[in-house]
Amino acid sequence: MDKLVDSESIKDLRHYISVSGKIVLTCHVRPDGDAVGSTLGMMHLLRSLGKEATVVIPDKAPGNLSFLPGFKEMGVFTCHPEFCKKTVEEADLIICCDFNTPSRQDSLAPVIQNAKCRKVLVDHHQEPDRFADLMISYPDMSSTCELMFRLIAGMGFYGEMGLDSATCILAGIITDTRNFTVNCKNPDLYEILVRLLEKGVDKETIIKEALNTRSFWSLKLEAYAISEKLEVFPSHRAALITLDKDELERFHYEKGDSEGLVNRPLEVKGMVYSIFLREDPDCIKVSARSCEGFPVSEICKNLYGGGGHLQAAGGEFHGTLQECRKILIDAMPDYDRYLKNKK
Ligand code: 5GP
Ligand code: MN
Repeated sequence: MDKLVDSESIKDLRHYISVSGKIVLTCHVRPDGDAVGSTLGMMHLLRSLGKEATVVIPDKAPGNLSFLPGFKEMGVFTCHPEFCKKTVEEADLIICCDFNTPSRQDSLAPVIQNAKCRKVLVDHHQEPDRFADLMISYPDMSSTCELMFRLIAGMGFYGEMGLDSATCILAGIITDTRNFTVNCKNPDLYEILVRLLEKGVDKETIIKEALNTRSFWSLKLEAYAISEKLEVFPSHRAALITLDKDELERFHYEKGDSEGLVNRPLEVKGMVYSIFLREDPDCIKVSARSCEGFPVSEICKNLYGGGGHLQAAGGEFHGTLQECRKILIDAMPDYDRYLKNKK
């Protein structure tokens, strides 16, 4: 396997861990499989090294990840703020996973930023802010979990990695690569897969639980969104789905129910990018996916102050759903230049 992660970072991380007793792991708001997998995966590893490790997340994680070992133990800031604050204040080290700027932690951000202890960033998003003492940022990696595995192996802790840690790490790789269909060109990734399977990880269960299990209402919502709410803009090779508050209520929407919806329009031949706008209680949540190297991260950054990866990005818009939709449609012509095979 290529030694992609620089040895100084690995050495520093190993040192920081060795001098810390209490370690907090944290991630971004609306945590996904990679965020939960990387924090819990490292938590289990640290516990097997005798550390007191705790995961603190900004808000609840979706139920499809509840099969992950340690899921119920995570401190959720919106539910138990005092417990989370106390845990963070007492920490000797904080490892920030799967986000590149403090604002991605919403109301948990000041708690983490004001903590006096050392902070390490472990992440794969572009252009991170320099908010941690040790920045381990590799945007070329498929997932934070891939990077976490490389760090664990690089520090010489593969032997200490147990089944729980390996399960969480593989869950993050599988969700961020959509079961090895995107961002999975690097052959090393399959070597990592082998190493995780050797720990006894049940890959089939991860795929079934994390990717292919949903509620009745989630399925109905997706069917409705595709049949009634999908707009296509053939000259821009773009698709758009919007769901407002009333529609979400009608389908008994729960966190995670629209996971994967944004990808569906890309199944249409010729479609290059897809945007999903959802009216959440606090903002319009923007989700974007693309193929053929089309930079949806630019759209999210320029129109909504968001970001992410070239082909998978997101943002938050503060205004009405209609305004958010109009801004996008008006801007579509500006991005035609990125289309490789113009019509
Ligand atoms: P999703 O569409 O699954 O919510 O997010 C896709 C990607 O975009 C993820 O890598 C995520 O970290 C990033 N992303 C989602 N929402 C935001 C946001 O509000 N701001 C930024 N900077 N990135 C986001
Ligand atoms: Mn990720």
